[in-house]
Amino acid sequence: MELLHLGLTDSKSIVKASNLGIENFPLTEELEKRLNIRTKIRNDAKCCAMAEKKYGSLKDYSDCIFLCIGTGIGGAAFLDGKLLEPKGFAGFEFGHMVIEKDGVPCSCGKRGCFERYASISAVKKKVTTILGERGDVSGQYLRENLLIIDNPDVQNEVENWLKYLKIGIGNLIDIFEPQAICLGGSFSHYEGNPILDRLINKLGESDTTFTISKRPDIVLAKYKNDTGMIGAVIE
Ligand SMILES: [Zn+2]
Repeated sequence: MELLHLGLTDSKSIVKASNLGIENFPLTEELEKRLNIRTKIRNDAKCCAMAEKKYGSLKDYSDCIFLCIGTGIGGAAFLDGKLLEPKGFAGFEFGHMVIEKDGVPCSCGKRGCFERYASISAVKKKVTTILGERGDVSGQYLRENLLIIDNPDVQNEVENWLKYLKIGIGNLIDIFEPQAICLGGSFSHYEGNPILDRLINKLGESDTTFTISKRPDIVLAKYKNDTGMIGAVIE
């Protein structure tokens, strides 16, 4: 089973998937014809969130957020235990809140989106550029070496990355008042990693949120890369 990037969808059809060259395709109808099971299209981060809420790290929280930090940043929110369901398209696209005025262009058509600065891909791209030919940076390499690469520009980028994560997550805390935030995507592999400790310390700084906001628990996705697939078959 593989999760595909379907571009812009509603719950039944692919509206437009530029990377696949598909427009207005009734995907669920075609799948139901072939597989004879009821089918629905749902955003991958929402699937991840549902799995973590039902069986994983968010099980014991009623107000919580899932944040998928990887190639981009996806997300979902639960209030009173209920997933906030988008009405038309993906909805709750936390990765596309603007955190930088006149920032870098994003595939969504806006500029300065959170995911352009705080995704794993964003930091990977910057570090690769700095390291030049030595810059064969896999996700695992980043995880294991990012803090010990002896290069001030790289360390500056790490600091910037964590600052952007702090801004974006701080915004979400002020909007949703979550009891917990679950970090998934590639970030789910950061358990015991000093980068996670640095992020949690940053989120504890006094200028992260509105004065009286209570800091939520920061947890990692229990099912790591399988979370989306587990969530895709719930209900
Ligand atoms: Zn965007």
